[in-house]
Amino acid sequence: MHTLLILGGTSEARELAQCLADSPQWRVIYSLAGVMAANQPREDALGQQGVTIRRGGFGGAAGLAAFIAQEQIAGVIDATHPFAENMVRNGLMAARHMNCKWAKIWRAPWAIEPSENLQILPNIAASAAKLGSVNLAATAKDGESVQFPPPPLRRIFLALGLKGSTEWAKNWHSMGEIAAAAQPELIIARTFAAAPLPLGLTQPEITWLQSPPASHPYENTAIGAEAAFLQQYQIDLVIARNSGGNLAGKLTAAGNLGCHIWLIERPDLSELGLTAKERQHIFATPAQFYASQWLELT
Ligand code: NAP
Repeated sequence: MHTLLILGGTSEARELAQCLADSPQWRVIYSLAGVMAANQPREDALGQQGVTIRRGGFGGAAGLAAFIAQEQIAGVIDATHPFAENMVRNGLMAARHMNCKWAKIWRAPWAIEPSENLQILPNIAASAAKLGSVNLAATAKDGESVQFPPPPLRRIFLALGLKGSTEWAKNWHSMGEIAAAAQPELIIARTFAAAPLPLGLTQPEITWLQSPPASHPYENTAIGAEAAFLQQYQIDLVIARNSGGNLAGKLTAAGNLGCHIWLIERPDLSELGLTAKERQHIFATPAQFYASQWLELT
């Protein structure tokens, strides 16, 4: 029996673990980051199926390499979220160092219909800077700058999760006077009920809302509920990341309501310097992973 390590925290990771749980060939360890560790009944259910659940970081690539050695892991399957940039780098480095097989489940990005309300931006910092420049241009006095300014964007929903919204808020604050001058009426960030806001997170301009306890932060809520949310707060700009998978209800609702959508591009895996073989071991779905020879070759 060989041991596989699944780097988890996504629906794909759970699907993989569930499929492999019954296999007599594999012992499966499923790893969850500390931030995901609270209140994860679905992972507990995997535990009842025989999957070993471990929680919390490894301590960087070196720590993960030590874990691979200690548990005699034959293969690492990174099924973390497309924006989990550190984990994918650490997982690859550790697997290389330990000469251990590696695969990545890399879901396809959303292919959203182009529209005049949709902008693609490279990162969170760019979205904060753009909001400042759009609103400053919109409020410039005659002859000051832009002749036909775009309308200001006053009510903003940061659909970036806790980590992304925190990063956005830090960027916004670092803009100092520009942010103050361009200050929208409302900036909402939404996180899930079980997650306490991190200590030191004092951004008075940001209104933090907590999702109802029944919903999960990383799941798409229904389009109708998202539309009601956007209408309740009269949102005119949604800033989101291109997480991929099923199109998020919030984006469909925002598109239907004519909101502006600024979509942050996902990190670029090519920056990891992947070899040709490693590139072959990137799969868009668990089904593609199974259909490959990866498990047989381990
Ligand atoms: P990240 O920036 O890549 O990871 C930060 C650190 O968290 C890593 O360096 C690692 O700590 C630890 N970590 C991350 N994933 C882990 C895992 N599966 N098992 C054990 N430790 C892990 O990632 P992130 O954006 O904070 O996301 C954290 C987790 O949440 C990921 O597992 C991801 O799948 C899940 N998630 C993230 C998002 C998102 O929007 N980013 C959305 C849905 C789910 P050490 O260096 O100490 O090993």
